[in-house]
Amino acid sequence: MGCPQAGPDTVAAMPETPMSFHMTPEELRRWGHEVVDWVADYLATIEQHPVVPGVEPGEVRSWLPPAPPEKPEPFGDVIADLDRVVIPGTTHWQHPGFHAFFPANTSGPGILADIVSSGLGTQGMLWQTGPALTEVETHVLDWVVDLLGLPERFRSTGDGGGVIQDSASSATLCALLAARERAMARGATLDQLVVYASAHAHSSLEKGARVAGLRPDQLRLVDVDDDFALRPEALAGAVAADQAAGRVPCLVMATIGTTSSLAVDPVAEVAPIAEDAGMWLHVDGAMAGSAAVCPEHRDQQAGLERADSYVFNPHKWLFTTFDCSCFFVADRAPLIQALSILPEYLRNAASESGAVIDYRDWQVPLGRRFRALKLWFVLRWYGAEGLRHHVREHVRLAQELAARIEADPRLELAAPARLNLVCFRHVDGDGPTEALHHALNATGRVYLTHTRLADRYVVRASIGAWTTEQRHVDALWRLVDELA
Ligand SMILES: *Cc1c(COP(=O)(O)O)cnc(C)c1O
Repeated sequence: MGCPQAGPDTVAAMPETPMSFHMTPEELRRWGHEVVDWVADYLATIEQHPVVPGVEPGEVRSWLPPAPPEKPEPFGDVIADLDRVVIPGTTHWQHPGFHAFFPANTSGPGILADIVSSGLGTQGMLWQTGPALTEVETHVLDWVVDLLGLPERFRSTGDGGGVIQDSASSATLCALLAARERAMARGATLDQLVVYASAHAHSSLEKGARVAGLRPDQLRLVDVDDDFALRPEALAGAVAADQAAGRVPCLVMATIGTTSSLAVDPVAEVAPIAEDAGMWLHVDGAMAGSAAVCPEHRDQQAGLERADSYVFNPHKWLFTTFDCSCFFVADRAPLIQALSILPEYLRNAASESGAVIDYRDWQVPLGRRFRALKLWFVLRWYGAEGLRHHVREHVRLAQELAARIEADPRLELAAPARLNLVCFRHVDGDGPTEALHHALNATGRVYLTHTRLADRYVVRASIGAWTTEQRHVDALWRLVDELA
């Protein structure tokens, strides 16, 4: 690039074109303060906005100029456009009335860690390219084993270990790739492999299977019980039928907290079926996994000590800014076997010594940012005590809402209210339930999404935004009461 640094001699010459267009550290400091102020003001006043913006498709683009800027623009204009363009077109996931899907929490320490990660701009594909990035990540993930009471085999000090991925979807894909490699190393062919999960499993498994080169008919979605948890007998039956037909069971995914209703598959009963068939047991605790910071919510992890891999998302319910998905393996060898490549330009003495972790072998992309800073900052800001406090508070608020719904003759729970999720419907059927759902969202004060359970329309109230307090759930209940 033809932009030499401005130095003492060149400044005096006052060229028509500045010698550098870069933001100087002093300019960064000044605008950085303004941006942080903007973010703090946004969060302090977030309740003023409707949770979901009232924009039509294409409207946000119509507020932008058709061509990119030729001349540098004042940074103040860019900040002003956050209020003009971004805010009116934003769905406010941090709004206290956000009860849709599952939460995607951020937090002060998470935001600040993201700034530091961007400031360092370091790449952690190899230990060598980011020793602190790598070792903080390994260490914090070992802390997470303590924090959630996870099985010892997931610690990096044994054969296993943890890695931070961008999403649970990526982690599940990696588990599947490792399982596929292991099965094929034992002599199976790709077209013989079969993958299993419950009919309520997250769609990321289906997508992962497609990426891994499996046909749709190589995925079995097995039956669930009345509480929407996987039926082990159905799994065992499907596995036996496939084996009898010469197919090779490759992986089963059990879910701790399904996306529709937070149903928990019986991992302890799935594990022996997986072991007998020689298949990989992957456990998806994307949302509910965070609840295990509280010892009283650890029974959902029964059997996890027999799993080959586990994923949960601190970016959902553990106040860690997206993206931060913790992926643990009991044995890192098959994962590395599946994902390791070594071109000449990445060869280095540290890797060859075998004494370091090169996280590029634990994920699909090569490059990786310093995500562990977010988790490190969050764990140190809240302490385990703070995390337990807020998770317990969300659970308490959700259970209080569930009790109110259960006591109302117009409404009923559509599934047991687990942790912080309340699935409910109108007793008069799908039409009135759907009407109630749309009326709630039309207020602009709350945002809820729906699912289908036992083939009936169900509204989901997920209580998990970090800004949600008692008064917000009370207000949600008043709206339900008024509009039912
Ligand atoms: C949200 C969710 C996922 C997907 O999470 P991403 O990190 O967005 O890929 C997977 N499984 C379950 C059970 C989920 O709730």
